[in-house]
Formats: sequence, structure tokens, C-alpha cells
Amino acid sequence: MERRRFGSTKREVSIVGQGTWYIERAERARALAALRRGLDLGMTHIDTAEMYGSGAAEEIVGEAIQGRRNEAFLVSKVLPSNASLLGTVAACEASLKRLKTDRLDCYLLHWRGEYPLADTVAAFDRLRRDGKILSWGVSNFGVDDLEELRAVSGSAAVACNQVLYHLKERAIEYAVIPWCEKHNVAVVAYSPFGHNDFPGPGTPGGKVLQEVALAHDATVHQVALRFLCRSPSLFAIPKAARAEHASDNAAAGRLHLTEAELTRLDKVFPRGARPRSLPMI
Ligand code: NAP
Repeated sequence: MERRRFGSTKREVSIVGQGTWYIERAERARALAALRRGLDLGMTHIDTAEMYGSGAAEEIVGEAIQGRRNEAFLVSKVLPSNASLLGTVAACEASLKRLKTDRLDCYLLHWRGEYPLADTVAAFDRLRRDGKILSWGVSNFGVDDLEELRAVSGSAAVACNQVLYHLKERAIEYAVIPWCEKHNVAVVAYSPFGHNDFPGPGTPGGKVLQEVALAHDATVHQVALRFLCRSPSLFAIPKAARAEHASDNAAAGRLHLTEAELTRLDKVFPRGARPRSLPMI
């Protein structure tokens, strides 16, 4: 699995990682097997959140990484409704307990809420000083939010911005990716398969995906992941509750698309109009 520098951190992180939204809905043994298979194959970036299954997803991740905590780049998120200074600290401690670990590699504000960013950042700083988190970032931040955050914290402190990005939703390419690249902030593509809206084989895009996949003896999902991670600031975190899907996703780390193939995909999945606000799910 290819790794690259994760934003302003000094860590090398797998370009393809593992999401866990709704993983608690799968049969537990199957979910654990998928996450462990992913780790075996180098998908060490594991993304979870206190929101997912109201903590149940974190508990599954905690079980999956037992005995192999040091292999993982573990990310969780605080809900905006908890993101006051003391609320963020308490939420992080509760996440650590569910994850059965003493630290997160990165801790994110899930999306912008009512609490002042300065309070959440102060909590992140405190957690970092205490060794409970090693870095922090944000999620669902557009450029205006990022600018405001930079005024509060300095961009050097922000490890990543986790945002909606898949073949049919490329809005972040207009401003968010350029901003993050300029300020050395990793861009983490969530819902890289469109959250169950993957381009079907009967569509023009699906057809191109299949042709490119065939040329590399790869799968359409691997081609999609590789397209989404095509520049050095980009990472993707597909969720897989099935071990065979985890294996499939991990193999994307070895796939290399030609410039001509990237151009074909770019054309058949156009960016669309520039949105007024950042799309999110
Ligand atoms: P997704 O990753 O776009 O799609 C997940 C679906 O794709 C599942 O049904 C999964 O099936 C299937 N799948 C996975 N690998 C496959 C493969 N190789 N071939 C065919 N199907 C495959 O959806 P997502 O869960 O919305 O997004 C991924 C992660 O991003 C989340 O789990 C979460 O960690 C994060 N996220 C963050 C935010 C945020 O606001 N920050 C929002 C949404 C998501 P199985 O599960 O059956 O294997």
C-alpha cells in the first residue's frame, strides 16, 4: 500500500484507508474480519467518529486493533454539539475508552457548529499537550471556514480536512483542494464510492471505468480510488464491512493510471458547476 505524508504531520499514511460509518450494522465478526484484513493489507488509516452508531463503531474499531494499535493511524471525530472546550476534551476521553487506546493519531471536528472555533482549537491543543491526540483536523470545511480556522490557529496546526469526494461529486476541486495544497493540509475523500451511488455499468462513466479497469486487470472500485488519490495531498477512506471488499480496496494502492486514463475519467465525470456551498452528507 502506498503511503504519503499526511498534511502537516510527520506521519506517512496509507493513501487508501478504512471508513466505519454504519459498520456496526454488519454482523460483528464479519466487520472485525474486514477491518483486520484491511490492516493486514496496509490500510492503516482507520476513520471513525463518536457519531457512528452512537459509539458502537468506535467499539468495533477498538476490538479490531487490539494488540496492533501501533499499526493504525487512528482518526475519530467530535460532534459539533460537543465541541466546546470542556465538551471536546470529554468527548475525546469517551472515544479513547471505547477505542481501548490511550491516544488518537488525529482528532477532527466533524462539521462546523455553534461553538466558537477558538474553543474547539483550545481543546485540541490541550488534548495534544496531554498526549491524548497526536494531531488534529477538521471535516466538511469550505474555504471560508478554513480561512477562519487559520486566523485562529495558524494553518500549520491543521493536519487534514475530510470532505465529500467521489466521481460524481468533485466540487472540492474548485477551491478546497487548492487551498489545502497551498497550506499543506491533507484532503481526505469521504464516501469515495458515493455512499452507495457508484456509477453503474450501463452509464457512460461506468463504461469507461470498466474499460480502464480491464486494461489493468483491476476493478472499477480500484480505478475510482486511484483517480481520487491522484495528487499528493489526497487520501480516501472507503468503508467495507466485507473482507473481500477490503482486499479489493487495498489493491488500489498498487494501481497506477496513465495520464490518458486520468484524462478520460476526468472528461466522463465532469466537475459540474461550482457550488455556492460545500456539499456534504
Ligand atoms: P463509501 O465508502 O462511499 O461506500 C461504502 C459502500 O461501498 C458499502 O456498501 C460497501 O460495502 C461498498 N464497498 C466497499 N468497498 C467495495 C468494493 N471494493 N467493491 C464494491 N463495493 C464496495 O461510503 P461511506 O461509508 O459513506 O464513506 C466512507 C467513510 O467516510 C465512512 O464510513 C466514514 O468513515 C467517512 N465519512 C465521513 C463523513 C464526514 O462527515 N466526515 C461523512 C460520510 C462518510 P460493504 O460495507 O458491504 O463492504
